[in-house]
Parts: sequence; C-alpha cells; structure tokens
Amino acid sequence: MLLAFSAATSTLIGSFYSTYQVQKEQLTAFTLKSNLAYAQKLASTTDNFLESALQQLAYSAKVIEQATDDIKQLNNEAIRLNHQTNSFNSVVINIDGIIAATSPRFEKIIGKPINSPGALEALKEKRPLVSHPYMSAAGNLIVFISHPLFDSQGNYLGYIGGSLYLKEKNILNALLEQHYYEGGSYLYVVSSDKRILYHPEPNRIGSVVTNNAVIDAVLSGEKGVLQVTNSKNKPMLAGYAPVTLSGWGIVAQRPLKSTLSSLDTLTVEVIKRTIPMALVTFIFIGLFAHFIARPLKRLADNANTLDTPKSLEKLKNVKSWYFESHQLKTAMLKGVSLLQSQIGQLRHDAQTDPLTGAHNRRSLDSIVDCLIGEQTPFAILEIDIDFFKRVNDTFGHDIGDEVLKSLTNIIKSLCRKGDIVARTGGEEFILILPNEDSKSAFHIAQRLRNTVADTQMQTAGFITVSIGIATWPHHSEDIEQVYKSADKALYYAKNHGRNRCCIAD
Ligand code: GH3
Ligand code: MG
Ligand code: MG
Repeated sequence: MLLAFSAATSTLIGSFYSTYQVQKEQLTAFTLKSNLAYAQKLASTTDNFLESALQQLAYSAKVIEQATDDIKQLNNEAIRLNHQTNSFNSVVINIDGIIAATSPRFEKIIGKPINSPGALEALKEKRPLVSHPYMSAAGNLIVFISHPLFDSQGNYLGYIGGSLYLKEKNILNALLEQHYYEGGSYLYVVSSDKRILYHPEPNRIGSVVTNNAVIDAVLSGEKGVLQVTNSKNKPMLAGYAPVTLSGWGIVAQRPLKSTLSSLDTLTVEVIKRTIPMALVTFIFIGLFAHFIARPLKRLADNANTLDTPKSLEKLKNVKSWYFESHQLKTAMLKGVSLLQSQIGQLRHDAQTDPLTGAHNRRSLDSIVDCLIGEQTPFAILEIDIDFFKRVNDTFGHDIGDEVLKSLTNIIKSLCRKGDIVARTGGEEFILILPNEDSKSAFHIAQRLRNTVADTQMQTAGFITVSIGIATWPHHSEDIEQVYKSADKALYYAKNHGRNRCCIAD
C-alpha cells in the first residue's frame, strides 16, 4: 500500500512539477519574444519619426538657403516648422554662428551666439544630426535634431534644428505612451550615452544607467532578449532593439513575477481539479491493497497456530480470492491436515499399548490425575492372568499374545462408558471404574472373572484371572497407596487359590 501510495504521489507531484516547469519556460519564452517584437516595432517607429523629422528639416533648409538675409522669411519658416507639425517642441535657425530666428520666439537669445552642446555639435559636424541628450540654456532636457545650411556654392552657412523636450509632452513620448501597459510591463529608451530618454517614471528621464546588461547589449547595436533584474531588484523579461538612425536603444520588459502569476493560478486550478480524481485513485489503491493483503495476513496469522485444534476451521474460512493466495491456502490446508493426522496418530501411539490397543501406563496416569483433579471417586481393579507362563510355555509366545488381546476384548466388552482399560505390565491389566465403591466394584470384578473363566480362548483354551480391588479415596487419598492396596489384594488372591477377586483391607 505504501509502495502504491508513494508511487502514485510521486508521479502526481512529478507531473505537476514538470507541467509547471514546461509552462513556465513557454510563458517566459513567449514573453521574451513578444517583448522583442514590441521593442523592434517601436525602434522602427522611432526610426521613421527621426527620418521624417530630418526630412522636414531638409525641406526647410532648402527653403531658407535661398534667403538667409531675409529675417522675416526665416521667422516664418521657423514658425511654420514648429506649428505645421508637432514634431518639435521648439525650432531654431542659426546663421553664421548667431541665432537668427526661433519658434516659439525667445527674444533673449536672438542675435546672440549659442554654446549649447547640440549647437556646437551641429556647427562642428555640418551634417544632419541627432544630438546626445543635454540640458539646454533654458533648463530643458532636450535632444536636438538639426540639418546644415549651405549656399549655392556649397559654403556652410549654419543650421536649422528642432528640439524635443524630453521631460515635457513631445512627439516621442506621445508615440511611446499610447501603447498598452499591462501587468507591470513597461518600456524605456536610452541614448547612446546611456541616458534615459523616455521612461514611464518621469523622474528617471535624464538619468544615466550603468551596469545594465540589457543597455550594454542594445547600445552595441544588437537586438535580442535577456532575463535581468531592474533597478528595483525585480527579475524582468526584457526584449530590446536599437534605433539605427540615432544609436538609441529601446527596451520593453515585463516582471517575471506577473508573467508567472497566471501560471500560479493555472496550477492551483489544475491541482483543484486533480484532487478529486487523485482521492478516488488513493481510495481505490487503499481498498485494492487491503483486499490483496487480507488473505495473506490471515494465512500468516494462522501459520503461527497450525497446531491448535481450530486452525483447520480458521484456515478454511480465509477468503482466498486470487490464484496465489488460493494456492497458499490449499498448501497450508494440506499441511495442517497432514500435521494434525500425524499429531493425532502420535498422541494415540503415545497413549496406547500397541499389542492390545488398551491404554498404557502414561495414559492411565493422566486419566487418573484428571479423575483426582475433578474429585471423582473411582475403583481400581488390578487384573493378573493366572499361570500365564504356562500358556507361553505350552503354546508359544504368539499364542500368549493372542490370549492377551482376547482378554482385553473381554474386559472392554464388560466396560461401561467412562471405564478405562489399561495394560500396565506383561499380563497385568488395570481397570478404572469411576464412581464405583468397593462393593459394586467387587460385583463387576466377579462378573469379569466369571466371564473370563467361561470363555474359551482359541488354541489356549480356558484361562483364569485374579483381581485385586481398591478404591480412591476410600482406601487412601494417596493414589500410590491405593495401587499398593490393590497390589496387596491381588497378591492375597494369588495366594488363596487364584481365580479370585479380593478387596483390599
Ligand atoms: P501367576 O501370575 O499365577 O503367579 O503365574 P504366572 O505364570 O502368570 O507368573 P508371572 O505373572 O510372574 O509371569 C508372567 C509371565 O507373562 C512371564 C512372561 O513369560 C509372560 N509375559 C509377560 N509379557 C508378555 C507378553 O507380552 N507376551 C507374552 N506372550 N507373554 C508375556
Ligand atoms: Mg503377572
Ligand atoms: Mg500371572
């Protein structure tokens, strides 16, 4: 039962565990994959946005390259670019290192040189550019997108550029925020110098992230998936993809815990549904084990008491309903029958005189003990054949034996139920007569003596017996004394002519 139970339980636990593991791996892989797809999609969206922003700037550059002296047109173009689309939070036109026009209009800086990192980078590089994020003079964290201006001879004139205010509403975060966030999943964007450009927690924007394997991977231009712990030490499933045009990286991630929470409820549900079936199985195992073990147990119990009288009956009552137990039962029944018949034979042999079939001395003693134990008075007749030596001498020992057998039969034929005939010596017999006193025992002895004297034996002819009589407890409480008294009475009978019955004094 224990084996069956533990096998069933371990199978059950094993299957729960492996199902859980497989589902966990599948869920994790699926989440990683979908995060990668999401990051890739947003990377290409961002790429498209930056490309279209640069195209807008290129178009405006074409427009104003013809009239860099026309302040009014420069202003108009700045205003148009800023308001026609919502690509930029602000627009600036720089001619010969001096701010010529802005939108919205910043009077303080118009006509002045500008030393912001974005401006310096644009002046230095003289090519379409997306800057690293930096803090502007007006205190905005910005990314600056710019396009160079050249005259018809190809001389560098300056640039036209648009800013994205990272901490304010801009087209980039409008783009990223419209996506659906569920179960703690979120995405963030980092610049090539590891500064956060977009994050659902606004206070994280602008901070630099170091020691982050995902950021290192995505900034090296790779796309992929990774299991990491985030800044709050939570295990995350991250998918990442680079924005090629700007060298930024986009990371979409979901907490491992919320990914697996559905699995936990699923597992609980599976366990709930399995338990009734498992209980039925366990009950079935228990019952079946019980029914298999029961006949074996009962046979084993009986094996200890095979020598008791009721064991055969008990064995027969064992319900051996399957082949092996039936075979065991049959074998045990055979064994017990044999054993008991042998025990019976041995008991009979141990109590019987082999020649005559009468009780022997041992049996006589135990019967007498019983009678004394239950305080039943009894008479002892000590019977001895007269001149038996002569029978042997005349007819041979075998005929002598036949005479002994015949005498036994005569004694038995005169016995009532409960009387005991024992052969205690060569041609000496003792007859125990329960509940007889000396007088009634004497009558029985006389009848016996006469019957013997009147019976002709085959070959040996007529014989006679002498009988000594004593009673317990009349002659003595001590059984040995009673035997001695009977002996004496027999001796007296022998000495007074034989073929006599004498009662002890
Ligand atoms: P009595 O008793 O009248 O004095 O004379 P008895 O000849 O019977 O004398 P006793 O009792 O002393 O002799 C017993 C004889 O019984 C001796 C022996 O030869 C014979 N005897 C003893 N046991 C057996 C036996 O098993 N078979 C035969 N055939 N004879 C036996
Ligand atoms: Mg004798
Ligand atoms: Mg004799």
